[in-house]
Amino acid sequence: KDLTACQVRQTFINFFLKKDHNFIKGSSVIPHEGLGLKNSFTNSGMNQFVPIIKGETDMVKFTRVVNTQKCIRAGGKHNDFEDVGQDNYHHTFFEMLGNWSFGDYSKEEMYTWAWEFLTEELKLEKKRLYVTYFGGDESLSLKTDIESFHIWKKIYSKHLDENQIQKYIVKGYHENFWEMGQTGPCGPCSEIHYDRIGDRNAAKLVNTGDPDVIELWNIVFIRYNKDCDNRLTLLPKQHVDCGMGLERLVSIVQKKRSNYNTDLFTPLFNAIEQKSNIKKKYEEIHGAKDKDCVNMAYRIVADHIRCLTIAFSDDETLSPGNTGRKYVLRKILRRGVYYATEILKFEETSFGSLVHVVVKMLGKTFPELQKNPKRIEKIINAEEEQFRKTLTHGSSVFKKNVEKLEGTKIFPVEIAWTLKDTHGLPVSITKLMCEERGLKLDMKKFDEYERKAKEPRHTAITRARDIALAAVRDVALTEVRDIALTAAIDIALNEAR
Ligand code: ATP
Ligand code: MG
Ligand code: MG
Ligand code: MG
Repeated sequence: KDLTACQVRQTFINFFLKKDHNFIKGSSVIPHEGLGLKNSFTNSGMNQFVPIIKGETDMVKFTRVVNTQKCIRAGGKHNDFEDVGQDNYHHTFFEMLGNWSFGDYSKEEMYTWAWEFLTEELKLEKKRLYVTYFGGDESLSLKTDIESFHIWKKIYSKHLDENQIQKYIVKGYHENFWEMGQTGPCGPCSEIHYDRIGDRNAAKLVNTGDPDVIELWNIVFIRYNKDCDNRLTLLPKQHVDCGMGLERLVSIVQKKRSNYNTDLFTPLFNAIEQKSNIKKKYEEIHGAKDKDCVNMAYRIVADHIRCLTIAFSDDETLSPGNTGRKYVLRKILRRGVYYATEILKFEETSFGSLVHVVVKMLGKTFPELQKNPKRIEKIINAEEEQFRKTLTHGSSVFKKNVEKLEGTKIFPVEIAWTLKDTHGLPVSITKLMCEERGLKLDMKKFDEYERKAKEPRHTAITRARDIALAAVRDVALTEVRDIALTAAIDIALNEAR
């Protein structure tokens, strides 16, 4: 019998505990200020260890650490928002199984353990594992990581036929240089990829976006810190930083070709099916990207409710909003509501009621989820109520405009703008509605149109700011000055409308 997701998580942690690692709980999805992840969330397990990695603290209690980290990749450098729902292995929220060496063990030790964990502990088929190594980067004056090539060759040669080995080792470039953000810790990496089908040469499919040959584990050798001028400085110590997606690993262990067919998602899918008022069930389609609206809706609703539940339970002051992280959550919430109401025909508050399914599934691993799930449900329901009104009105205006198109397949950007500006319908939703009807909405043109449409407003705001600044220049109290400025800008904004 296959291991459950819980067992897979625990097997990983136990494996590294046996290798003298210490368990340190993963951090909040809201990263510390100063990491340069201002508008995004915790994107990998190493985030909480940045001060150790940079050598900024002497408080290194352990040099070997293991855990599972809640990650959200829906903004900033690592942003998978657009892919989520389209494919079956990128999520907005996912768990990263992590292990670290802070100036402790070597490349060879880590590769050997990774191989041991996958092929002996989990008994994955060796011929489905492909590894990549860093091929160098001239612009950064970095050499090929030939050492990795040789170590991998040695490991494979213990198990596979000598003249077959090389096809499992793939040279990579920018995918093999990992960076946390625009600035910060970084270094060359070696990744392990897995062929979900097997019995073929899949080397050429590695890193091509093929849903059956997926990246599983990233082993990064953090050696540098990157500053705002793209300059690399060598860190005081060399660290090993490894991250493996739990959902992907579970799909492999449970022999599924999609993360969504594992026990990390099936209870949610069952709940979605019950709440849905359409007849169609979820149907997993393999191979190319699955564009079927209903299937997409299942994946998006399940993914987004997990993400929202996780995010809101990590910060009691967090709510959807119009800037930064709050805006990312609003986007996720609205896209979730859109698919739940328009495609799956959920009743009002059904989307929010999925929160308790998530809490039931993940609450043991992340006890913070159990603190106040009612609050999260309330936040989601309030946003849903508001957004449903916008959606009902906006989609009727949208439909009227579609009738006027008389068969052309291009949706005019100026109408998309009116929908956004006058009726409050986010352009991402207009785009989804277009896609469902086979209409094309040129996003580049839309952005350009929006920029031009906003120009008079910007000019008015800038002028108002200048006048206000001049008027309050001599006011000593910054507080008073800021209030006066804000008021002046508000007036200008209203006039510009
Ligand atoms: P990909 O190339 O598939 O987008 P990545 O190279 O961006 O992955 P890393 O930054 O190397 O990912 O993160 C380490 C591991 O975390 C990956 O090997 C993968 O198993 C997992 N992972 C990354 N992004 C996601 C995601 N959006 N959803 C689920 N798992 C993910
Ligand atoms: Mg990625
Ligand atoms: Mg990758
Ligand atoms: Mg990677």
